[in-house]
Amino acid sequence: MKRMFLLVTILFAAVHFAAFFQPDVRPGYGVTDIGWLSDYFPPLKGTNLDTPVFYMDSGVEGPTFLLMGGTHAREIAGIVAATIFVENAVVKKGRVIVIPYANKSAASIPDASGKVPHFLPINSRSGPRYLVYGDRRTDPADQGIPDPEKFVHPSGFELEDGSEARNLNRQYPGLPDGNPTQQLAYAIIQLIKAENVDFNLDMHESGTPEEYTDESGQVKKGSRLAYTLVCNPAALEIGAMALLMLEEQDISFNLEESNPEFRGLSHLEIYNATGSLSFLSETPNPGQDRWREKPDVINDPKYPLKLRVGMQLELIRCLIEAYNMYTGEELLVEGLPSFQEIMEKDVVNFMN
Ligand SMILES: [Zn+2]
Repeated sequence: MKRMFLLVTILFAAVHFAAFFQPDVRPGYGVTDIGWLSDYFPPLKGTNLDTPVFYMDSGVEGPTFLLMGGTHAREIAGIVAATIFVENAVVKKGRVIVIPYANKSAASIPDASGKVPHFLPINSRSGPRYLVYGDRRTDPADQGIPDPEKFVHPSGFELEDGSEARNLNRQYPGLPDGNPTQQLAYAIIQLIKAENVDFNLDMHESGTPEEYTDESGQVKKGSRLAYTLVCNPAALEIGAMALLMLEEQDISFNLEESNPEFRGLSHLEIYNATGSLSFLSETPNPGQDRWREKPDVINDPKYPLKLRVGMQLELIRCLIEAYNMYTGEELLVEGLPSFQEIMEKDVVNFMN
């Protein structure tokens, strides 16, 4: 009985304390329409999981590319790269759809590590503005149900950590009648199907590859994932071509193929569910190194935000070029700052 009472209390509190959050994205000339993810799955409407969708349509026939940031809302290089895309790029052939805050609920709460402020002040082209540093997972208040003991993907794949039920990038291809995060993944899949998205990139960050010494004095390796492009097996050739092009700019990324045993990840499931060639990128974020006490996620001397965003943008450019070469179709994007421009002028000079 006591337990029941506690559960009711938690649910009641959850309903009342979900944080309202509206992302700050300031569209440039390339944006031809703005919609909501709930346009593809109405139950999301009015919830904190609904999120703005930006359409950049050239009006000229060509492929459709979906760009996503903020699947994990603390991985800000992806969010900022998507924002810079919306605020600067103009599509001349084909169409690009951008979701800068794929998990808007996760952006509405601060990172659980408590080491990085939720709102980071910057000076953009228009003056003071904030970058949002959110959490890895959906706000428990928006999920509305307690985390399970263990996470179980509908395929039967299991993870020990029950809070992974709120991790968008474990839920694909999603469920229309599942928990809110599963519904979010389902809505993204519906968008991809409805808009005939040819290829897509889900931008992430990992810890840095820096070695560190743990509490017991042991030297540990840094993140294995930093500087990686993960590709669905069907997208591997295009991914390899893109990384060769990236190498010409002296940026080295590792090529990795989706592991079919690890279920629920965007790069594996999106292609398998929709036929849209799926990719996932990872840049090194000092905020995700557990050993750092006071990470500086914008001005770290070795892994500054401009470097990470510059790499994500350059990777987008190479991926589009590789897609064009491989398929013989043409997606043409102008106005996107180059890696050099981002390094020289910093991200703030490409934000409205
Ligand atoms: Zn991530």
